[in-house]
Amino acid sequence: MQKCLQITKNARPRTSIIYEPQGRAREYAELAANLYRGCDHGCTYCYAPLATRTNRESFHQPSVRNNVIEKFRHDAKELERVGETRPILLSFTTDPYQHLDIKEKLTRKAIDTLHYHNLKVTILTKGGKRSERDFDLLTKRPELSEYGVTLVFINEEQREEIEPFAASTYERINSLKRAHNQGIRTYVSLEPVWEPKQTLKLIEMTSDFVDFYKVGKLNYHSQKANVDWRKFRIDVCKKLNDLGKNYYIKEDLKKFI
Ligand code: SF4
Repeated sequence: MQKCLQITKNARPRTSIIYEPQGRAREYAELAANLYRGCDHGCTYCYAPLATRTNRESFHQPSVRNNVIEKFRHDAKELERVGETRPILLSFTTDPYQHLDIKEKLTRKAIDTLHYHNLKVTILTKGGKRSERDFDLLTKRPELSEYGVTLVFINEEQREEIEPFAASTYERINSLKRAHNQGIRTYVSLEPVWEPKQTLKLIEMTSDFVDFYKVGKLNYHSQKANVDWRKFRIDVCKKLNDLGKNYYIKEDLKKFI
């Protein structure tokens, strides 16, 4: 659900594209923007068709939102006016580096706009190499930039079946490494968790170049019944503590104690 911003009594910025996510999504970011409707990565566990009340078939044929960059520029100007300091996430209900963005380049325009208005951006993507196109912008304003990827599978056959048109895990990890090597703050979203063993291994494989982990569970798929969430919660905290990493456990996983 989207809610336009009502920040202070005096300023009351009116925004239409940058919004405050509600519920579980808010644990990830207090501000977000979705530049596209739908996403062509085709993940079978995707919650966004449900959240946006779109059938899956139409959701996987994405389009550009009407006048999105004009509206986004207006929103950014408003947020700068009221001194907003919270990062803006690109994106929740679409991937900022899906294939459509190769042609449209809206994510690049959005990052540029946020930086121009001295606003922070945090990227979350499964686009792999496609997302590296904009590292030049992120490295120019490292104090305002953060780059994150979602990692679910080590098993590439499973990844192809369940996230068919997203970049391979290997490619996503390489993009993380490159971001880190260029001085960009990095994070990994370990959500959804499909199989705990794979998630724990992904942490080991990335801990040298990832600054922060966000851990959730699987919510919108029958596979969630096959996981011992209590055991996973204990194991994942131990692993991250042993490696000395900073992390956040989402509320729906935290309750398995
Ligand atoms: S990348 Fe994200 S938005 Fe796109 S289909 Fe996969 S889960 Fe949904």
